[in-house]
Amino acid sequence: MLYAQVVLPLAQPMYTFSLSETLAVGVGDAVVVQFGSSRYYTGIVWSISSEKPDYPRIKPILKKLYSVPLVTPTMQRAWEWVAEYYMCSLGEVMRVALPSLAKPSATSLTELDERSIEAPKERYVALCEELRSEEALAEYVARHSRRAPRRCENLDIIANLAIERKAADGFVPRRLLNLNNEELTALRKRGLIYTEERTAQRIYDSAEFLRPTLSEAQTKALEEIRKAHHEKRVALLHGVTGSGKTEIYIHLIAETLAAGGDVLMLVPEIVITSQLVERLERIFEGRTTTYHSRLTALRRGQTFLRLATSSGGELIVGVRSSIFLPTHNMGLIIVDEEHDANYKQSDLAPRYNARDTAVILGRLNNANVVLGSATPSLESYTNSLAGKYAYIELKERWGEGVLPEVIVSDTIRAVKRGERKTHFNLDLLNDISRTLAAKEQVMLFQNRRGYSPYTQCRTCGYSPRCPHCNVTLTQHKASARMECHYCGYTMPTPTVCPNCDIQDMALMGFGTEKAAEEISRLFPTARVERLDSDTSTSERAFKQIVHDFEAGLTDILVGTQIITKGFDFKNVSTVGILNADNLLSIPDFRASERAFQLMMQVAGRAGRHNDRGRVVIQTSQPKHPVIEHVSSGDYHAMARKELEERRAFGYPPYSHLIRLMLRHTEYELLRHAAHHIATLMRKKFGARVMGPVSSALEMLRGEHRAEILIKIEAGASMQRARKMIREAIAESEQKREYKSVKLLIDVDA
Ligand code: ADP
Ligand code: ZN
Repeated sequence: MLYAQVVLPLAQPMYTFSLSETLAVGVGDAVVVQFGSSRYYTGIVWSISSEKPDYPRIKPILKKLYSVPLVTPTMQRAWEWVAEYYMCSLGEVMRVALPSLAKPSATSLTELDERSIEAPKERYVALCEELRSEEALAEYVARHSRRAPRRCENLDIIANLAIERKAADGFVPRRLLNLNNEELTALRKRGLIYTEERTAQRIYDSAEFLRPTLSEAQTKALEEIRKAHHEKRVALLHGVTGSGKTEIYIHLIAETLAAGGDVLMLVPEIVITSQLVERLERIFEGRTTTYHSRLTALRRGQTFLRLATSSGGELIVGVRSSIFLPTHNMGLIIVDEEHDANYKQSDLAPRYNARDTAVILGRLNNANVVLGSATPSLESYTNSLAGKYAYIELKERWGEGVLPEVIVSDTIRAVKRGERKTHFNLDLLNDISRTLAAKEQVMLFQNRRGYSPYTQCRTCGYSPRCPHCNVTLTQHKASARMECHYCGYTMPTPTVCPNCDIQDMALMGFGTEKAAEEISRLFPTARVERLDSDTSTSERAFKQIVHDFEAGLTDILVGTQIITKGFDFKNVSTVGILNADNLLSIPDFRASERAFQLMMQVAGRAGRHNDRGRVVIQTSQPKHPVIEHVSSGDYHAMARKELEERRAFGYPPYSHLIRLMLRHTEYELLRHAAHHIATLMRKKFGARVMGPVSSALEMLRGEHRAEILIKIEAGASMQRARKMIREAIAESEQKREYKSVKLLIDVDA
């Protein structure tokens, strides 16, 4: 009899099950086991031994799922690293690493049907039979070239490629055609071409992909990246927005795929990156696989299984959890917008950072790693200063593009001089007028959605708050309700103050909904759209808004964070940041860094293709160092100043922060437990322990929250620190009365 250690999707450590030899189960396989009296789980076989453990009743493994192991040996090491570093169980890693359908449990134990998994397809295009001969095409072109020159040109492109490639049946790979989807669709609708899906072929020549020609600066950067990779170093590519980082990635991707390697490209948020995926698909067609939470569970499960059986040459573009997808020949990992906070999962264990995990995964696979950003995280930047990462800088935009001009517009001064209408300074309004007159587009950024972030009684000062989260409720005009942006609680907007019964409630501050309403009033003929999580509830709605703006059907786009990332709109010449004060006043040691990154990112949307764009930042603190650094576009100055402060206060990157979060519905019990644990931690860590303090959100979903922060100086052993924390927690668990207090750990918070 054999015994298998099996990881189950639970917070507990591994369990042992017996394994009959007839099942042919190996390490990494998914298996079904019974747990408790009536529950079934999918588990992953972590190791197998013949030694019988000394407890009496060992249950058997019931069944093996799938013909291939779901977790490769390298991925096992990656899971172990995540579990150890982020202080969670392998089962918790399993919960994020495997898609739900690949790990059936309890109610439905049906596995995915492996036969339903299709080989990746690639699109081929051919002229219709009537145009297949040279004479026929020439005749068609002669007849239509005056009225539809573009169409004729496109037909010629297809015909020429077919000749060049000696395509006997006339079909050529779509990826080699420098045509966009609209153009192809137009030809197909007229019956001028056929398209056909064929099983994608492996490609062994990177010239088989339509790679862009690089500029001199890009070529130099590409060479420096190659050199770094040759030296087995991570490459940090710091390229201003519009410098063409993607073009460089494309070259690296093509080389890796042609060598039979897999490429993982991480992006912070997939919906926002739809433009990027389209661009990559045009070049890599049947090799591209996307992976994110908006796909159906079935699709995600199938993708996972397909990759588990693939032998290499895959291009995966996905969000942070894609880091756990199975590959067999990882050659390159790209983390785009590596500074983005979305790479850190903070709500649930494992509270991992996908960027940092990517670096580890690169090392485990002996694969190349590129971290790219217009505003690198101070962690990565410091690693490059220390020589740990190679640092590669692209200072200029590609081609004729110039970085936008930044105008800082003082809101207090504008009010004093009567140069402000509702929430807009004249500086910005004048720019908008000019832009609209030139038939160009405007983007306005406000980092709050809804109408008003809070309501206040003008007589007694009372503001309605969420009864579960103790934060102010945001007014939503469309629904005439107030909503909690943390838990979704809503209530009708009160007309009289619930506190003093006087009818004097006023809406304070402004969100995107109000900004859009006001700007429509100020520019009645402009077409205004709003992009935030309220207007883009479905992927379709999201795409529609983006498409309309791209097509020039919208003049002004008002939005939250969602409009700041990755978009490449050709005709935007003015970008407004409506209230930078919001960004500067966040109580977080990273507030300045994040504010800089966000504003640079917003600014990066301006003037990417036409003349120099303009960015207007409205703020009451025009002399704030972050505003000054954004206005000069000086990343290095920002980094120098920020790093000085971080060093003085012992914050990352000069330390690792470990946050212990405690939760309970009873405030007094929580307070006592928090003090008890803090005392135990202080015994081990002394002055490195801060708190307990109430969390930024003192109450969430009905639970009170407190936290304790531990700063471990950079260079000290994190392994030892984790061990000491575990010991202190074990000690605290001896106090029975605190048993019901939830304790969560967030490493590198
Ligand atoms: P980044 O990701 O650095 O912000 P992008 O890769 O999106 O920049 O490039 C910005 C714009 O410049 C894109 O529209 C891109 O197509 C164009 N571009 C950059 N480099 C090249 C190149 N070598 N050839 C053609 N177009 C390029
Ligand atoms: Zn709430």
